[in-house]
Amino acid sequence: MIIAKNTVVSFHYRLSNSEGKELENSHDGHPSLYLHGANNIIRGLETAMEGKTTGDVFSVSVDAIDAYGPRVDGKVQRVPAKYLKHEKKLKAGKVVRINTDNGVVNGTVVKVGKFSVDVDMNHPLAGQDLVFDIEVVELREASAEEISHGHAHGVGGHQH
Ligand code: ZN
Repeated sequence: MIIAKNTVVSFHYRLSNSEGKELENSHDGHPSLYLHGANNIIRGLETAMEGKTTGDVFSVSVDAIDAYGPRVDGKVQRVPAKYLKHEKKLKAGKVVRINTDNGVVNGTVVKVGKFSVDVDMNHPLAGQDLVFDIEVVELREASAEEISHGHAHGVGGHQH
């Protein structure tokens, strides 16, 4: 079996920036799970996954434009501090999760005030060229339910 539309892919990854600094690593936990062809992962990575099979190990460089997009100026928002009560030790540079009308998004704290916090709403990895070291762990066909939901179900994927 190879990775094609409606394959559920279980994979481990190590994510680094173009200078080789490690940003994320899945190897300490469960592999990640996604539904191929459903836009669940960044485009540059999904394209590289196409046609791979169980046990394949490969590296792929993804330009910012095919990863989290360019960094956009003017996306700093002033957020009432009470919306960030769940975040401990707020300080500039910390990545926080904020509830918006479009769901939960990540932002990066720019400045902490007494009643409000300035947050840069660019994705923390926006504007960065990325390198993924991938290991394909397991493949299976998606269930009809997964295809209708547009995501994979199970540990490392969507659990609901
Ligand atoms: Zn679902």
